[in-house]
Parts: sequence; C-alpha cells; structure tokens
Amino acid sequence: MSKFRNFKMVDYVIYGRGSFDQLDEILSPNRKDNSPMIFLVDHFFKGKALTERIPVQGKDKVIFADVTYEPKTTYVDKIAGELKEEFGTVSGVIGIGGGSTMDLAKAVSLMMTNPGSSADYQGWDLVRFPGVYKVGIPTLSGTGAEVSRTTVLTGPTRKLGMNSDFTPFNQIVLDPELAANVPVNQRFYTGMDCYIHCIESLQGTYLNEFSKSYGEKALELCREVFLEKNTWDNESDDKLMMASYAGGMSIAYSQVGVAHAVSYGLAFLLGTKHGVGNCIVMNHLEEYYPEGTAEFKQMVEKSKVEIPQGICKGLSDEEFDTMINVSLGMKPLWENALGKDWEKIMTRVKLRELYERL
Ligand code: NAD
Ligand code: ZN
Repeated sequence: MSKFRNFKMVDYVIYGRGSFDQLDEILSPNRKDNSPMIFLVDHFFKGKALTERIPVQGKDKVIFADVTYEPKTTYVDKIAGELKEEFGTVSGVIGIGGGSTMDLAKAVSLMMTNPGSSADYQGWDLVRFPGVYKVGIPTLSGTGAEVSRTTVLTGPTRKLGMNSDFTPFNQIVLDPELAANVPVNQRFYTGMDCYIHCIESLQGTYLNEFSKSYGEKALELCREVFLEKNTWDNESDDKLMMASYAGGMSIAYSQVGVAHAVSYGLAFLLGTKHGVGNCIVMNHLEEYYPEGTAEFKQMVEKSKVEIPQGICKGLSDEEFDTMINVSLGMKPLWENALGKDWEKIMTRVKLRELYERL
C-alpha cells in the first residue's frame, strides 16, 4: 500500500435548511436522454410530506427502502437487478434516509454498471467501473456515510464495505430540516456514532493534522448538542449534521477503533445495529478511552436514553469465538487503537472478558 492515502471525495456539496428544494435544479443537467432518476427513500417517509417534494419527472421511480435490517448484498442485488430489467440503464440513484439508505444508494449505483453480485466487491478496491450518478441526502445525522468511500453490506460470509474510489457520492444535499423528526433514542444512537468516530480517531495512532482538524470540530459540535444545550432545537440539527460530515472526514484519513471493532462482532452474531452496538460497547471502554467513556456516560444521562445491558448473557463458547474472530479480523482498527503491537495487548482472553461484560 502506498504511504499516503490519496482519497476520492464527494464531488458536490450543498448545505442549508430547505436546500432539498434545489434538488430538481441539481438533477436536471445529470438527466441522460430518456433514462430515469431512481429515488431510494427510507421507508419511514412513506406517506409523509417529504415524499410529495421529491422532484419526480417522466419515468422516474420512487422506491421505499426497507431498512428494518442493515443493508444486505442480496437486497442491493435485487434492487439493481430489477432496475436493469425494467430500464436497462438509469440516469442516477438518489438515496434519501439514514446511513442504511445512503449505503444502499451507493451500492445500487455501483451495481448498475458492475457485473455479478455486490458480494463480489466487498473489500478494498475491487469495484471495476464507476457506478451511475449518485446523490446522498441524509435524514439522520452521525454515521458520516454521506462522505465515506465505503458502503457497509452484510454478505453471505461477512459484513464488509465496497470500499473504492468509485463509492463516494457525486453530490450530497445536507438539509438539517430533514432530520427534524427523528425519535430521541435513534437520534442519540446515530449521533453517538459520530461522537465515537471522533474519540477513536483523535485517540488513534493513525492521527494526523488533517484528521485532527475535522475530528476536533466534530467533537466540539457533539459536545454542544449533547452536553451544553438543554433543549433540542433546529440549531442542534444544524450542528449535528455538520458534526457527522466532519467526523466522516476525520476518519477518511485515519480509522475507527475499539468500539467499532467490538461492535462489528455483535452485529455479525446478534444483528445488533451499528449505532446502538457502538453505544453498548462504548459504555465499557474505560480502559481504552477513559475520558471519552466518562463523557459518553454524561451524554447518556443528559439525553435520558437507555443503553442495553447484558446482551451477551448466555452465549456459548462457540458464539463468543465467532464474535472474537470477526472483531480481531478488523486489523486496521486495532492497529489504529492500540498500535503495531496490538495483538499482544488485545488477546482473545481479554476480548472475551470484554464481550462478557456487554
Ligand atoms: P438507519 O439508516 O439504519 O436508520 C435507523 C432508523 O431511523 C430507521 O428505522 C429509519 O427508518 C429511521 N429514520 C431515518 N431518518 C429518519 C427521520 N428523519 N425521522 C425518523 N426516523 C428516521 O440508521 P443510521 O444509524 O443512520 O445508519 C446505520 C447504518 O449506517 C448501518 O447499516 C451502518 O453499517 C451504516 N454505516 C455506514 C458508514 C459508511 O461509511 N458507509 C458509516 C457508519 C455506519
Ligand atoms: Zn460508525
């Protein structure tokens, strides 16, 4: 691998309350001949007012994405397959929703031009052709999926992203108004994904000034909304949407750490979702991130949310081993968190003890 990461970024960014209404104008020059734009919309918005504001024209299609489970390769293949069958090709894919919908939109865009199954491209730089034009419109802030070069998918054998230079969006629309009605728990779990990205990046061995600049800003914004303000208002949504963006930029040049590495094991075995899974783990990371863990607990208390406990109770040795294998497989995360000698620090026994505490 080359010494310095040379990463592809999102091409265009628009930010502001109400910027969603500029979508028609944004899409217009990207409409090709007679082929449609496909709007992949989080199923939460079915029947909601936002749906009426989608600038549908001609053969354009709105598909409601089922995000009950985090995106699977089979679901991506199904959507892309049906679109190819119905239209041959499309002008673009526009994802409107949380991190799951963002990832689905990126993956479907790539699968419109790449042969085979999305499972064939889970890994690093395996995608062969640029996808169709793709737009990300987050309605839930925290994952940073709007800026990242990956799309996390659960495949037949692993949970891993299609990580490539073709993966980032061509355009993102950051309109904090869209995040106005997220339930408190969900907003907290996904918001904490951003907070945890910051802690893991800022305390990591991969840190450089680029990551630090974005990570510190994102952390400051998280503290403002989750600790300093007493009520959640529009300004909180404005800030958290920018925190998500900056947190994503921070990890673009570093890596996540212990909470994510352990949470991936939970997701694989128990299907625990990304946001809440990270919170479950962060609750027990005093040894690795003492200040971050203490501050996280303050945020939990202030937001009055429940972090599930005891989720690993009664699991068998084999099940613990599965989680340990998945987690220890995330080598760059551990190396970022604990340094080059991480394998001496995070032994299987130690990791098992940590899982037993969750
Ligand atoms: P999500 O997209 O899974 O959505 C969670 C819930 O919130 C869903 O029920 C959804 O319908 C609902 N929701 C979304 N917007 C809403 C709104 N405005 N009002 C009310 N409800 C709304 O949650 P998430 O935490 O944003 O995303 C998690 C996913 O992101 C995981 O699949 C994870 O793997 C992925 N992820 C990807 C990256 C990346 O870089 N690609 C990074 C982190 C996480
Ligand atoms: Zn995350």
